Amino acid sequence: MSLELSKKAAEVKPSSTLAITAKAKELRAQGKDVVGFGAGEPDFNTPENICNAAIKAINDGFTKYTPASGIHELKEAVCKKFKSFNHLEYTPDQIVISNGGKHSLTNIFTVLLNPGDEVVIPAPYWLSYPEIVKLAGGVPVIVTATEEQGYKLTAEALKEAITDKTKAVVINTPNNPTGMLYTEAELRAIADVVIENDIYVVADEMYEKLVYGEQEHISIASFGKEIYDRTITCSGLAKSYSMTGWRIGYTGSSKEIAKMMGSVQSHQTSNPNSIAQIAAVEALNGPQDSVEKMHSEFDRRRKYIYKRICDMPLIHTIEPKGAFYVFVDAAQVIGKSYQGRKIGSIAEMAEILINDYNTAVVPCADFGFANHLRLSYAIAMEQIEKGMDRIESFLKELK
Ligand code: PLP
Repeated sequence: MSLELSKKAAEVKPSSTLAITAKAKELRAQGKDVVGFGAGEPDFNTPENICNAAIKAINDGFTKYTPASGIHELKEAVCKKFKSFNHLEYTPDQIVISNGGKHSLTNIFTVLLNPGDEVVIPAPYWLSYPEIVKLAGGVPVIVTATEEQGYKLTAEALKEAITDKTKAVVINTPNNPTGMLYTEAELRAIADVVIENDIYVVADEMYEKLVYGEQEHISIASFGKEIYDRTITCSGLAKSYSMTGWRIGYTGSSKEIAKMMGSVQSHQTSNPNSIAQIAAVEALNGPQDSVEKMHSEFDRRRKYIYKRICDMPLIHTIEPKGAFYVFVDAAQVIGKSYQGRKIGSIAEMAEILINDYNTAVVPCADFGFANHLRLSYAIAMEQIEKGMDRIESFLKELK
């Protein structure tokens, strides 16, 4: 057939992280002992109380359509969490429950953008932002942050990037892939630029509960009415409650934006899964001890992996403070030789690691940083230990 398909869809790259996870799974299925540092999902089972709530929902026959933007009970639970955890006041008509964080972001950009509108995306970025923005007809404007800045967007850099086409800026804290957190001072300075230039903030706070050490998670919308009105706060259940497969995300925004997102969703997907919504109510309102347990295990792994990387030759990282990723600068590996062959890119390094060392890592070119790789520590400690040993052996092999 010679009929042309959608230009917009043709421009979208497939998710390389999902591809790496799939490759690791495939090799495992062939009997290989693969360590997978690729996965962006906790290795824990979904807590039992949450699973039981879902089973009860099925047995109670809660298996039909719900309101498209989510059930009232879940919106109320989200409002309660926003108030107690994020210090944000939202009412249920400001909440949209969606099919995961990716879907929330799709709703947000669909509602915010007209063709050609620009969205400032700080790099390193989670690889889906530019693709979702493009699908919504927008233009991603990438602003690269340095290691000295903690890989975070500064207010000055934002100011410079803003044009008369800028509609929004994405602020992701805790950050995927860097594990960095924005401080209150950094967010306040960004908020001032946002208000001054009358743009929106898309605040992706998906990893808000996975913060380690002294610093706390801060929601930019909590600084006052002017920034609150310009922010769409986005989060979900996937990472904090180990509910990646349940597909529940949510947003807090102005009523006007929430209403528009609800209308869009009513045509595109209808409601998120009814059973998962009941499970999400239990996750947010029920006991939080399993979240704390997962959190402290992540923290233990984080400290271990950070120390191991610091002790390795040729690579380095900055201490991650949140989420479950370490962002590794491997620039010095490029140009080294492995078994007589020169390594030309981090993608090649990743290929050698998976093929010769049964270790999957994520090269970060698709995250806007071609000399880096991302390691997820959302895998068992023994796996991390084994994987670190393998990466170390590989690095020591290089000439
Ligand atoms: N935001 C960030 C920063 C993420 O890393 C992810 C998932 O990897 C999401 C949003 C989307 O989460 P989900 O669609 O699984 O709820």
